[in-house]
Amino acid sequence: TKQSSTNFIRNIVVEDLKAGRVQEVITRFPPEPNGYLHIGHAKSICLNFELADEFKGRTNLRFDDTNPVKEDTEYVESIQEDVRWLGFEWDELRFASDYFEEMYNRAVLLIRKGKAYVDDQTAEQIRETRGTLVEPGKESPYRGRSVEENLDLFARMRAGEFQNGEKVLRAKIDMASPNITLRDPVLYRIAHAHHHRTGDAWCIYPMYDYAHPLSDAIEGVTHSICTLEFEDHRPLYDWVIAECEMDSTPHQYEFARLNVTNTVMSKRKLKALVDEGVVDGWDDPRMPTISGLRRKGYTPEALRAFCREIGVAKSNSLVDERMLEHFIREDLKLKAPRTMAVLRPLKVVITNYPEGQTELLDAENNPENEEMGHRQIPFSREIYIEQDDFMENPPSKYFRLFPGNEVRLKHAYFIKCEEVVKDEDGNVVELRCTYDPETKSGTGFTGRKVKGTLHWVEASQAVPAVFRQYEPLITDEAEEEGKPFLECINPNSLEVLHGFVEPNMKGAVGHDKFQFFRHGYFNVDPKDTTPEKLVFNRIVSLKSSFDP
Ligand code: ATP
Ligand code: MG
Ligand code: MG
Repeated sequence: TKQSSTNFIRNIVVEDLKAGRVQEVITRFPPEPNGYLHIGHAKSICLNFELADEFKGRTNLRFDDTNPVKEDTEYVESIQEDVRWLGFEWDELRFASDYFEEMYNRAVLLIRKGKAYVDDQTAEQIRETRGTLVEPGKESPYRGRSVEENLDLFARMRAGEFQNGEKVLRAKIDMASPNITLRDPVLYRIAHAHHHRTGDAWCIYPMYDYAHPLSDAIEGVTHSICTLEFEDHRPLYDWVIAECEMDSTPHQYEFARLNVTNTVMSKRKLKALVDEGVVDGWDDPRMPTISGLRRKGYTPEALRAFCREIGVAKSNSLVDERMLEHFIREDLKLKAPRTMAVLRPLKVVITNYPEGQTELLDAENNPENEEMGHRQIPFSREIYIEQDDFMENPPSKYFRLFPGNEVRLKHAYFIKCEEVVKDEDGNVVELRCTYDPETKSGTGFTGRKVKGTLHWVEASQAVPAVFRQYEPLITDEAEEEGKPFLECINPNSLEVLHGFVEPNMKGAVGHDKFQFFRHGYFNVDPKDTTPEKLVFNRIVSLKSSFDP
């Protein structure tokens, strides 16, 4: 089992165990099923599961399904799939909605104790009378309602006698508290909406600040880990646990949420990208969702290593996206076979190679991992190279192909460019080259040297393939300009190319991963690939410009 690196929450856990304050560490991952999980959630998942795991504790997956309007079973399913794919198995699968009856009963208890009241003010009035950091709030005219009246009204709220927004249940705490969260927070609201699990059984729903601590307590959670923006809510969390007289006392701890450069990470924005058709669903490889990263070609190992590296801090920070890329390169370096793919093909005819002849050349599958063995690749008179590996009038220091220049073909021979064939518009459509049989790769030829090595694919057996390369959907600079979010989309976020791969890749299936020589790591797209058409998503280029 893996060791979590030391962090302040882990230190608290260690102390709690040592002092006997807890017998067993119980954590939970509590997503709201209102969207797909993203890389930020992965950080929370790793933290919660690995922490419990290290101390032989338990972790629940609990859906925070208290907002029926935005929630859906599609999300419930995708979230489970993503947590499992990341490599974690929950102890119990729970839903906050499992506890609606108990939460209701605890609210009745609060009313009986004079700690909660029904307020007829509108949401707007409640917001306006909440006060500010320097000004206390104003008490609601309904704050003094009797226990009997509150019990009656709350029961009638549940029975469906009132419209949405007509009434709420509020905690009676302190409208003058310096902590605005404690100024009589709303505990229940009316929402005549169908719930994906409880159907039409309820028309009142608990608020997060009420439902969350109770759910934690009911499950016996010991360490309830959330993001920093809930720090001010902690006194309310403790108030709910205490005033509702829960048997177990969970504690809330806050850590910094993950932000990544050039990456939007709010479900609201991600949903807008999906709904507006900017992307091809939540799992579009440009999305920072776990399903998008998976489809792009990220591995669970890389995401977990990334989460471990960024650590758990108490202050918010922005992590460079190149760090994420570093970890997938590291993970695939020894795992992914190295093959050749031509993304923008240019035909080359080797005029002195015998017509109708094909030979098989030996190629190692991964020079850094001998165990991956060798393969045979065909070579003949016609091959494809990359369009930008040729220039008719190159600048100095251009070591690839140009008229009169000689280069090495990876795993094959030296070729020399003798003639350039153009179409009517002057575009280069074919090169005519000669090869030197003496220079065959692996024979130890040392007669002369060339500076450039090109990748290529034999033409007659080449397998057509589609390649997709990505740029950020939205850059940090675009977002900073203050334009509406959907006007910040990068028009070049997706580039689709039609080229060729080696014939031995014909049987590749979804999620097979390769390193294409000089291009980078690619994943076989699991959705768009068919037996007739291979589609590759670029996971990451080869350049490693970042080392943590
Ligand atoms: P979003 O703002 O993207 O909708 P959320 O916090 O509302 O995120 P939840 O489904 O409520 O989404 O989150 C489940 C858990 O994941 C919470 O404990 C939350 O704190 C954590 N989480 C969400 N986003 C991040 C992030 N960027 N970094 C770390 N943890 C996160
Ligand atoms: Mg949330
Ligand atoms: Mg949210």
